Amino acid sequence: MQDVIRKLLADLGEDPDREGLRNTPKRVEKAYKFLTSGYGADIDQVVNNALFTVDYSEMVIVKDIDFYSLCEHHLLPFFGKCHVAYIPSDKVIGLSKVPRLVDVFARRLQVQERLTNQIADTIHDKIAPVGVAVVMEATHLCMSMRGVEKQNSFAVTSAMQGAFRNNARTRMEFLELIKLRSAVPGIRESTGYACVGED
Ligand SMILES: [Zn+2]
Repeated sequence: MQDVIRKLLADLGEDPDREGLRNTPKRVEKAYKFLTSGYGADIDQVVNNALFTVDYSEMVIVKDIDFYSLCEHHLLPFFGKCHVAYIPSDKVIGLSKVPRLVDVFARRLQVQERLTNQIADTIHDKIAPVGVAVVMEATHLCMSMRGVEKQNSFAVTSAMQGAFRNNARTRMEFLELIKLRSAVPGIRESTGYACVGED
């Protein structure tokens, strides 16, 4: 990877041998390995020892989870807040594992819609809840830094499954608790947004 970064620096018109850039390939490699470490993470290892059988059937919410990801179209960051809710049938996930689950999928090359769905699908697969909901709000640097902010550099995506999809009151209760409304411009069922990947 370091050779590729050296080549990239030269192609950008830089001198890869000048003092400030000499160790840049090494640093970039290290940074990218961390930022994509989700590929090597084992979901089962992250959550399996934190699944508990409980007699609890109310909504569980973990909100304002900070996340940082890389847009797969530009390799630029998008980042923001993730809100996760589910209604258990007989199992719950340890609360501290939910942000770790978000990290596993965020630390890959992503589009926000797929990231949102992967988090919801994994919770569905692991604990078969009555319903699961994930909302992600993010700023996309590939849009704001390139001066296309007029086209929504801020995006909201959601994945609603089970009771959150079928029951409007359950969905509204969740959106109320995370202070979002389906009427808020920008919130869409996870298909409405894509960064300008073709540019
Ligand atoms: Zn992008």
